[in-house]
Amino acid sequence: MPASAELGPVPDAIARAYDPSRFRADGHRLIDQLADHLAACTSATDDGLPVIPWLAPADMLPRWPADFADQPADDLVDTLTATAAGSIRLHHPRYLGHQVPPPVPGAALADAAAALLNNGMAVYEMGAVATGQELAVVAWMARVLGMPDTAGGLLTSGGSVGNLTALLAARQAAAGFDAWTDGADAGPPLAVLVAATAHYSIARAVRVLGWGAGGAVEVAVDERYRMRADDLTRAHAAAVAAGRRPIAVVASAGSTATGAYDPLPAIADFCAAHGLWLHVDGAHGASAALSAQHRHLVDGIERADSVVWDAHKLLAMPALCTAVLYKDVTRSYQAFAQEASYLFAAEREWWNLGLRTVECTKRMMGTILYASLRAYGVGFFRAYVERVFALGQAFAARVAAAPDFELAASPDANIVVFRYRPEPELGGAALDELQAVIRRRCLEDGRWYFLSTRLGGALWLRTALMNPLTGVRELDGVLDAIRSAAAAVQR
Ligand SMILES: *Cc1c(COP(=O)(O)O)cnc(C)c1O
Repeated sequence: MPASAELGPVPDAIARAYDPSRFRADGHRLIDQLADHLAACTSATDDGLPVIPWLAPADMLPRWPADFADQPADDLVDTLTATAAGSIRLHHPRYLGHQVPPPVPGAALADAAAALLNNGMAVYEMGAVATGQELAVVAWMARVLGMPDTAGGLLTSGGSVGNLTALLAARQAAAGFDAWTDGADAGPPLAVLVAATAHYSIARAVRVLGWGAGGAVEVAVDERYRMRADDLTRAHAAAVAAGRRPIAVVASAGSTATGAYDPLPAIADFCAAHGLWLHVDGAHGASAALSAQHRHLVDGIERADSVVWDAHKLLAMPALCTAVLYKDVTRSYQAFAQEASYLFAAEREWWNLGLRTVECTKRMMGTILYASLRAYGVGFFRAYVERVFALGQAFAARVAAAPDFELAASPDANIVVFRYRPEPELGGAALDELQAVIRRRCLEDGRWYFLSTRLGGALWLRTALMNPLTGVRELDGVLDAIRSAAAAVQR
């Protein structure tokens, strides 16, 4: 027998790596460490625990050397504990930062289970249970939005990919030619009508689709940064005058910078009158539909041809978990194929989800949301949305009442844009520079985490209040911290 045909026992390095008792022991230790991390975050009240242990990028690299040895060097749990220690703490009540939530802890456990099972899902056989769970959460999401019975969709890896997926389907439905098969230039140049306040993934998707910068025709916004539906007629005419065929309006619910909700009923009316596809980017704000108190913000979303909704934003899931929903689910088959929309459901391989997503192999993201919905109940998700929206209102009220602060716009959601303006005569570049210095100081100090953003040509401070454990103490405290930071630089 040739030597190459002999198969010895499983090598030690492999047997040790897959040893269930090692996994069990590591797992128990890791959960204890993560629970300690969570406890330290949620009980952090003073300056003891930084929300962000800031290190400049160049100082970070040497901490994680790439000198991997042939033999095991470091304990898994030690490395992960060190990772947690140096990471931004989303469960810290002073985390007033990006639109990334502190995941509800059970979802992290579900994520670990999904990682071990690793049912890839491109084809049904590779993820049968996960496919069933994904279609269940997607159906629930469509129902929450009030979409019709014909609605359905998929989960994908993030709102940016979701927006691209929906616009691919929009193009196939509305272009009037088969761009999928014959190419983007097989017909007249296309365009979508969109406000400048839309997320940059829309501008990227337009370029990926081959329409160039002119493929996004700008619609004006009002003083609260919402799309002006009464400007759509002008924008439509401008697109036509530029030799383009407008196929869709992209509305934000809400927008990234300020959380503003575009007026969906009026936009839907315009789309119906002009035969345009309506895509609603609800990555951040579609979750408002869970609350009777906030549902009015998304009224009209049920008329959208496609909707993107990130569960890893206001449904408190770990990244990534995004729904792409279609009013007519048969449109979902056209995003990545030239397929007739009149095929009967029974003729489609609706169980092989990979036909309708950018991904081939996909994480079991539906499992994580499904298990969380079961474990916590819809009431948790409603309470989460209402809490963080209430934080937005409470913080905006404080800013508006403070004579040395200024509010950019009264918020629809949990995103507040504001700035420190100790003297009304302070303006222009000096006012911008003050915000930049405050932001940099607080970031490097690490006790508070908030952002800055450019809005209307000026620099503002910005917070997305994503942590439902944030309270009054933090809302007042961050204003004082900003005053102190400003005083320190002015000295
Ligand atoms: C966050 C966001 C996106 C991008 O979603 P990712 O999941 O980060 O890719 C798109 N649109 C809006 C309105 C967003 O807030």
